[in-house]
Amino acid sequence: MHNYDLIIIGAGPCGLACGIEAAHYDLDYLIIEKGNITESIRRYPHDMKFFSTAENIEIGKLPLISQDIRPSRTEALKYYRRAANHYNLNIRPFTTVQEITKAGQGFQLKCEEAVFHARKVIIATGYYDIPKTIGVEGEDLPHVSHYYDEPYRYTNTRAVVVGGANSAIEVALDLYRNQVEVSLVHQFESLDKTAKYWIVPDLENRIKNGEVKAFFSSRVKRITKDFVEVEHIPTNRTKKLSADFVFLMTGYRPDVELLQKTGIQLNGPAYIPALNPQTYESNVAGIYMAGSVVGGEETAKIFIENGKLHAKPIIADIMNKRNRSNV
Ligand SMILES: Cc1cc2nc3c(=O)[nH]c(=O)nc-3n(C[C@H](O)[C@H](O)[C@H](O)COP(=O)(O)OP(=O)(O)OC[C@H]3O[C@@H](n4cnc5c(N)ncnc54)[C@H](O)[C@@H]3O)c2cc1C
Repeated sequence: MHNYDLIIIGAGPCGLACGIEAAHYDLDYLIIEKGNITESIRRYPHDMKFFSTAENIEIGKLPLISQDIRPSRTEALKYYRRAANHYNLNIRPFTTVQEITKAGQGFQLKCEEAVFHARKVIIATGYYDIPKTIGVEGEDLPHVSHYYDEPYRYTNTRAVVVGGANSAIEVALDLYRNQVEVSLVHQFESLDKTAKYWIVPDLENRIKNGEVKAFFSSRVKRITKDFVEVEHIPTNRTKKLSADFVFLMTGYRPDVELLQKTGIQLNGPAYIPALNPQTYESNVAGIYMAGSVVGGEETAKIFIENGKLHAKPIIADIMNKRNRSNV
């Protein structure tokens, strides 16, 4: 049985940063990834541009060359693949960790077709796999989605977009600019003011001009194959919006079940993991957390720019403990 020094779960930008740091110290490590390298980013809207400038999402001191100040999704995908190759990172793709249990001095990680062992574990699983559902009838119909790819499939159809933050605003604008009749439904009275500053006025102007219909202070009551029933919260009045496609851009959340099964203490309604703020070690000694999973359900708090910085203190702590135990 092979016992790795370290297993990193997740090959997102922050998991990769941990792998680069582990390789630097010659640790015997493995990155286990359920999809392929930067699987979350691969599933982002195809034409999406990062809000970060290129240098802020670089890892391993490798330059990210991008055409504009802000890199595109494609540029980032190519960059992270080059970075993984450059450092010859040891990645096992298409393997999902289902369970982490203590075994001897370390841990056993159960996947569908294999079991792995490691002395230390870093959980860098992000949040993009699990959408925050809104719990209404019809949410699972085939024309309803929590993800958005590209607009061309939807031209000359009617779409309802639910939400008022970055993703919902971008989806509404992209659909509108590709000849889709868009209605936006948002539970609050205006768009999220913390969204990217250059997209909010754009959509507000489309709404003012009647080019996108907006239903603020409203919630979805049910979805059928032909329409979305929406309730105006202050008046309880309902309205049926015709819809060929429905995009529920209501956010995502980390895999709380996996963390709880592992024994990680999660605090408050946002399930924030209890971590040592210096080392990112959890209450389960030997299990660390890195990247956006550290923010629990507050998914806007930790992103690539600050999540990639977890790698150095985590690996430093692993090395310190190793050196001490060798003394
Ligand atoms: C549309 C959009 C735009 C964004 N723009 C920016 C930006 O401009 N700048 C910025 O800094 N951040 C941005 N973010 C946020 C940023 O992309 C995430 O915070 C970032 O991906 C975090 O990296 P990560 O490595 O922690 O997690 P992720 O990139 O989500 O990687 C986690 C990985 O773990 C894998 N995984 C999950 N569960 C398991 C399992 N059980 N077993 C094996 N593998 C598993 C997933 O497949 C995934 O590849 C954006 C997010 C979105 C949605």
